[in-house]
Amino acid sequence: PTAPYDDDNIFAKILRGEIPSSKVYEDEWAIAFEDINPQAEIHTLVVPKGRYVSWDDFSAQAPDEEIAGFVRAVGKVARAKGLVEPGYRLLANVGENGGQEVPHLHVHLFGGQKLGRMIG
Ligand code: 5GP
Repeated sequence: PTAPYDDDNIFAKILRGEIPSSKVYEDEWAIAFEDINPQAEIHTLVVPKGRYVSWDDFSAQAPDEEIAGFVRAVGKVARAKGLVEPGYRLLANVGENGGQEVPHLHVHLFGGQKLGRMIG
């Protein structure tokens, strides 16, 4: 089972405005900001405003409207950054084996360069 949501996680603090971030997008469902430790030329994180630990509880419990809003927000960020034509990569780490460090769902958006095959 997924651990209960922890309101003290770093992305919750960013969502509440308690910690600064380089915000690049915000709507009703999501915010996006630049990763503090970028792993590509462009490395943006898209974070739903709802209290979800990971893709697991989000996909199982979020209302359809919220899932749609978040998925559309990810697409909007990619388009706003001009990444559609050159291409990009989305990634969501889940849990221990996935290497998830921050326990609030986020989708990594990588681009701005030809990306390698990073698995394992
Ligand atoms: P995860 O491993 O959980 O999928 O990814 C967490 C990501 O959040 C990492 O890429 C890490 O660099 C980023 N990160 C951690 N703390 C902060 C922060 O305080 N601000 C920002 N902008 N990114 C953060």
